[in-house]
Amino acid sequence: MTSRSVLPDLDALEVWFATGSQELYGPETLAQVATQSQGVVDILNSSGDIPVKIVWKPVLTSSDAIRRLFLEANADDKVLGVVAWMHTFSPSKMWIAGLNVVAKPLLHLHTQANMELPWGTIDFDFMNLNQAAHGDREHAYIESRMGIPRTTVVGHVSDQATRDGIEVWTRAALGRWATQNMKLARFGDNMRYVAVTEGDKTEAEIKLGVQVNTWGVNELADAVHAVPESAIDDLITEYLDLYEVADVLKPGADRHDSLRYGARIEAGLRSFLEAGGFTAFTTSFEDLGELRQLPGLGVQRLMADGYGFGAEGDWKTAVLVRAAAVMGVGRSGGASLMEDYTYHLEPGKELILGAHMLEVNPALSSGPVRLEIAPLGIGGKEDPVRLVFTADAGPAVVVAMSDVRERFRLLANVVDRVPLPEPMPKLPVGHAVWKPRPDFRTSTTCWLTAGAAHHTVMSSQVGIAEFREFARMSEVELLTIDENTTIESFEREVRANAAYYRLNQPL
Ligand code: MN
Repeated sequence: MTSRSVLPDLDALEVWFATGSQELYGPETLAQVATQSQGVVDILNSSGDIPVKIVWKPVLTSSDAIRRLFLEANADDKVLGVVAWMHTFSPSKMWIAGLNVVAKPLLHLHTQANMELPWGTIDFDFMNLNQAAHGDREHAYIESRMGIPRTTVVGHVSDQATRDGIEVWTRAALGRWATQNMKLARFGDNMRYVAVTEGDKTEAEIKLGVQVNTWGVNELADAVHAVPESAIDDLITEYLDLYEVADVLKPGADRHDSLRYGARIEAGLRSFLEAGGFTAFTTSFEDLGELRQLPGLGVQRLMADGYGFGAEGDWKTAVLVRAAAVMGVGRSGGASLMEDYTYHLEPGKELILGAHMLEVNPALSSGPVRLEIAPLGIGGKEDPVRLVFTADAGPAVVVAMSDVRERFRLLANVVDRVPLPEPMPKLPVGHAVWKPRPDFRTSTTCWLTAGAAHHTVMSSQVGIAEFREFARMSEVELLTIDENTTIESFEREVRANAAYYRLNQPL
């Protein structure tokens, strides 16, 4: 993470832990409930598995206290979400007023303070104290009856699988926090005539929270052209330190001015985004105004600092790139715009080569990164500078978002990135090569069946699990393709979802 990172400081964010009970048990039992639920929180916090601190809240025994807790959570920007556990029986009519105002992600933790039943000593006092087995069922009833979206995690907190579930939900809540606090700047409109990059920006703000607005690209160009030479000098020094800079771009060489202009774009973009509080943006190669190059290098480095980005005006993918970057904070790897570009179709050994015109995040690579210049071929501007690298081998997820009228559809596919079968010395862009799970034919047939987009976010930090919870929190559709997918089951799910989303409409 660089000093210019726009990724959140995890020490400044929290999850609240709410324990349900009732006055019926008396002060002695309620004191035990409090001690034991604090013990659960202590185990979670000391495990190091949960990316933010979990803050224990006093045991809830009344409708007013429950409502007050959710109102306070809603009002506090550092609270990602609320974990609720009914240690004892907490009659659920007490939760209606609170659940009616909840605006943060919810996790229903179905656990118990003790792991083992004390077979030889168990008495009815023990039974009265440890009632989550039915207390949480009462709680789930009211959540289901009220249609409250929530994640359910089951098990003792000493069990790694339980903590993994809580971590996945917390990371998804980070993504939700990111979109709820996101302002996205579009420089220019979408690429002309393209369908899938269009979408309902108002609905995106309603569902995801993100504010998507457009600025004339010459406003960006003004910021770029106002960058002082000293800021460019500093960036050139940084580039020479970090990357294998092509000889022609080095100081004094023929094309060094092109690199200086690339640095100027980076500094101008960054100042524009910082001044407006933006954490995501789009560009369009058809609409560059006074800019002399399509932004490549600068966009790549901004993605590495946690900004969301979509090319050709694709703001939906920019939202996903930002959400994935925030979900993955603290883990190695990154989140990048990606495009299914071209195929290796040798039967049984099919591969997808993913890349873009320029804008792939170098955080996908731990290997050498070259800084080069090459013609773009389209757009009619000067040759842009760009970072060139091969993404690391290993698992990743690619996720696309499209607007299918009643809802936004996310499609997530687990992929395995592979080392290059052969070098590609003439390909001057950052790239990744992968096999989609479960296999090429199944994956691409399902992808096309869903009508999913050609732009994606590729994340090497989070997987389908985090996106599933993120989709649930955001009330958007999620379709998945993984090792268990068949074409037949996938098509049935697409049809069932079409009916569900068309019936599940307001008004
Ligand atoms: Mn594209």
